[in-house]
Amino acid sequence: MNVGGGFEPIMKPSQILVANIGSTSFKFRLIEMPSERQLASGGIERIGSNEAPFELRIGDEPKQKGTGSFPDYATAISFVEKSLGGFDNLAAVGFKPVGARNVSGTQFMDESVLKAMEAFNTLLPAHNPPYIAGVRLFNKLYPDIPCIGTFETAFYDDVPMENRRYPIPLEWESKYGIRRYGFHGASHRFVTQRCAELMGRKDLRIISCHLGGSSSIAAVVNSKAINSSWGMTPQSGLPQNNRVGDFDCFALIYLARDLGLGLDVVEKALCSQSGLKGMSGLPTGDIRDIVAAAGSGNEDARIALNVFTGSVRKFIGQFLVEMNGADAVVFTAGIAENSPELRARICDNLGFCGLELDQELNAGTRASETIISTSSSKIAVWVIPTNEELIIARNAWAKISEGK
Ligand code: ADP
Repeated sequence: MNVGGGFEPIMKPSQILVANIGSTSFKFRLIEMPSERQLASGGIERIGSNEAPFELRIGDEPKQKGTGSFPDYATAISFVEKSLGGFDNLAAVGFKPVGARNVSGTQFMDESVLKAMEAFNTLLPAHNPPYIAGVRLFNKLYPDIPCIGTFETAFYDDVPMENRRYPIPLEWESKYGIRRYGFHGASHRFVTQRCAELMGRKDLRIISCHLGGSSSIAAVVNSKAINSSWGMTPQSGLPQNNRVGDFDCFALIYLARDLGLGLDVVEKALCSQSGLKGMSGLPTGDIRDIVAAAGSGNEDARIALNVFTGSVRKFIGQFLVEMNGADAVVFTAGIAENSPELRARICDNLGFCGLELDQELNAGTRASETIISTSSSKIAVWVIPTNEELIIARNAWAKISEGK
């Protein structure tokens, strides 16, 4: 297990620990640079509990799995440090922060960046507070190891103004920063780059569908994002597993003010009791449960699925028009990589615009890099498993190399 440098480091530190911070989970991958070899991965869930499940893999081999007492985040991080034989060979810890006020791109995660993230806590209530606390902890525990984050918004930094601006008073945008952003940037960047490699050309119009715990669609022309299904926050766009997606802001005012539910109740419901979970009335937003319930005749689950796939199709349609067609559609993340049924529903009857799914290839593809369109389809349809961590590691490595 001595992958972290339990030996005298002869060369400069060359490993990036990519940290994925959730409110009660800590997942990681240890990547050697510049070879991009994954040395280890794993994580701890339900931090705060006496029976927190943990897992450690060295390379692709399972090494340790079980449950243990992890009262707090610091215990989880020190467990990872020990399991990896120390952090002596760490060049940086890489992060994937979601958003911050007036900060994007790849950044050293110092206090000024963390403060800019705090300014967006209300907009990113599920993401920013645990993330800020996690990064602060790393900065405190390992002051000599740089923490470097690539913001989820970074892939969208060149999106044209037309696709950033809301139809609101101009001053709200300039003074308060109210505009559309875009998230899942590392994932869309990875799969669209990979798609270009697989297709052997860069001049491509790609519709990238990341459908998972959170879902979004990006329109990408010649490797650059030109639009996204997201709005200002990850509570917008497609219906999410338990978050709302696009919603009329006047319905919110009506609920909170006129019907007296109050802003806090409405906020909580839109953040955690909406999306697939809210629409289906089931206790879960996991699409597998909703597919199963719909199959057993649950009408609300059936409608929830149709709202979800209909919303994906709406953005595909919008981006086809904006890009004057497309060369490829890419499916990635938990739902899109693993569910032939949902991919088939999304691609149903799109022959009129040149997209034909090969039903057999689609049915046989799960989480593997495969083309699933027919040979005559004008639009190539790909399943490409995402690897956001690699983008984070590459950017962290480049940032350190810049600084040398
Ligand atoms: P995240 O990292 O955002 O949690 P993932 O990309 O890991 O998301 O996706 C997790 C989601 O993938 C789960 O919530 C589940 O709904 C979905 N998923 C996993 N396997 C399947 C499957 N076989 N069919 C449909 N959905 C699946």
